[in-house]
Order: sequence, then structure tokens, then C-alpha cells
Amino acid sequence: MKESTWIWLDGSLVKWSEAKVPFLTHALHYATGVFEGIRCYNTSEGPAIFRLPEHVSRMFESAKIYLMKIPYSREEVTGAITKTVAANGLDECYVRPLAYYGYGEMGLNPLPNRVSVGIAAWRWDSYLGEKAEREGVRCQVSSWRRIHQASMPPQAKSTSNYANAALAKIEALKAGYDEAIMLNMDGMVAEASAENIFRVKDGIVSTPPASAGVLRGITRDTIIRLTTDLGGIEFRRVDISREELYTSDELFLTGTAAGVTPVREVDGRTIGSGAWPVTQRLMEAYSNIVHGRDKQYSEWLTPVATKRIETISSSARGTTV
Ligand code: PMP
Repeated sequence: MKESTWIWLDGSLVKWSEAKVPFLTHALHYATGVFEGIRCYNTSEGPAIFRLPEHVSRMFESAKIYLMKIPYSREEVTGAITKTVAANGLDECYVRPLAYYGYGEMGLNPLPNRVSVGIAAWRWDSYLGEKAEREGVRCQVSSWRRIHQASMPPQAKSTSNYANAALAKIEALKAGYDEAIMLNMDGMVAEASAENIFRVKDGIVSTPPASAGVLRGITRDTIIRLTTDLGGIEFRRVDISREELYTSDELFLTGTAAGVTPVREVDGRTIGSGAWPVTQRLMEAYSNIVHGRDKQYSEWLTPVATKRIETISSSARGTTV
């Protein structure tokens, strides 16, 4: 991990190495946190955060599902995110806001505990590896099923959901694959461990509906919009079966960390002919948008006025939201 300088914690910027939590923090023991993964990109007009309001909204909705009251407004969290990126002097970076139940009472009921919010930002270039965009990734259909909405809310981006995703990811990595694809309890494709999945077959682009138990990805939403805007691409939200993965012409994963990444193999089956014309068209359009080269989508970019902070006097601490 490429450490940066500051982490925003409950209203103040604190040194990265000093942003610590007590051992009995509720979320550490019972996974009672909700979070976001956001990216900031370099554009010709400076750094800009991609679809920031949508990420902040999803975080507040995740909290609502869990009856968690975030002690800041959406505007305050939005401001704190841009401030964290700016203070660290970052241009291209990944941003991780987390709201979590802190230290106070143990026991399963989180509600007596204070809700804390932390925001970190650091340089994180490639989630699925340097070669992933060029060469595609190899995926394994996991033996672990994606959490069912009768047990956990899959559309909340809660820390607890990622225990399920981590089991799948570990299994795939140990078997020599790059990423896991998870089926839902009906045996239909849900998503990858930290990405949504799209299929291309006979020129039609499809992705499983939210009811398949997927996280409503913001990259997924962007790609769906692009299928309309680019023209000549038919799009459907439909259930996808395991064998339909194998017989796809193209498959790709979408996520904030991973971007748009082609899949070259699933369970030892090569996908399509190894050429990804539709995926590449979407990848290029996505890259142009996030880097501010396509002005049609400039409302999706929140500019950050980078103002690197070297030190914060102790009197200034605790005064900022
Ligand atoms: N599904 C899961 C389980 C994820 O963790 C992510 C990453 N947030 C995604 C899909 C993609 O979502 P987004 O495009 O909003 O990053």
C-alpha cells in the first residue's frame, strides 16, 4: 500500500500512522460498518472524483438499511472526501470512506455505540493487476454462493458482506485464478467478488438484474448508460446462467477499483475468440469519461482543488469537518 499523509477521522485530519481505533471497536468484532470505494482521476483540468454524489448516496443508503445514523450530512461527507484527497496532494487515487460503530458496548446490538466516520485516500493503480486490462483476467466460478437477500442485504455495501466475497476470492487465488465469479442461491450468475459482470453475445450486452443479488455498481450503471449513448449496442438486464458464461463472445467485469476489465477465461474455457471489440469500445469510452476527455459527462466529475497540507497545528485539529 502506498501510504499518504492524512486520514480524515471524525471531523479532523490526522496523520496516517496516528489514525488508530481501539481494539474493542464494535465494527472490528461484528463487521458493523458500511463503506464506499471511490476513484479520483487526473484530468486536463486537475484531479476530479468520479460520480461522487452517487457514491455518497449509496453509503447513506447502506447505513439506512442497517439503521445506522451517520453523524454528518451528505454534504459534510462529500466535503470531507474532497478535502482528504486535496490535503494529501493526490491526483489519481482511490478513496475509502467508512462509517462504523466504534468503541463503547460489546454485544451484538451495535446501536448503543457511537458511529464514527473515517476517510482514507491513497494511490492504488491497478486492482486486478497491471496486465488485466490488456490481457484479460482468468476467473473461477466459486463454490461459495453470493449472499442471499433473505440472510444479508446484498445491496448494502457493508463490511460484513465482504467475508463472503473474501472466501470466494481466496478460493480463486489459491486455485491459480485472478478472480471469483459467484452464483446466487438460484444457481444464476450474480457478480465477481468485487465487480459486477457483463456478457456480450451476438452483439447484445447483458448483466444480471439487481434481483440476482448484486451490488448496484456505479461503474455498472455507467456502462449501462454507455450502451445507450454510444449507439448500436443492444442492452438487456437478464439472468445469466453458468453455461452462458462459458459460451459468451465477450465477458467483462466492472468496478471502481478494477475499472472495466475483460475476462479471458472462466473455469478453463477460453471466452470467445480472444478479441474483445465491444468491451474495448466500452473501456475506451469509460476511460475518456473518467479522465474528463468526454465533456458530455463532465457533470459526473467533481473537481478537487489540491492543496497539499504538510502539517496541522494541534489547535487546528478537531475544528474541521
Ligand atoms: N460488486 C461488489 C460486490 C463490489 O464490491 C463492487 C465494488 N464496489 C462492485 C460490485 C462494483 O461497484 P462499483 O462499480 O460501484 O465500484
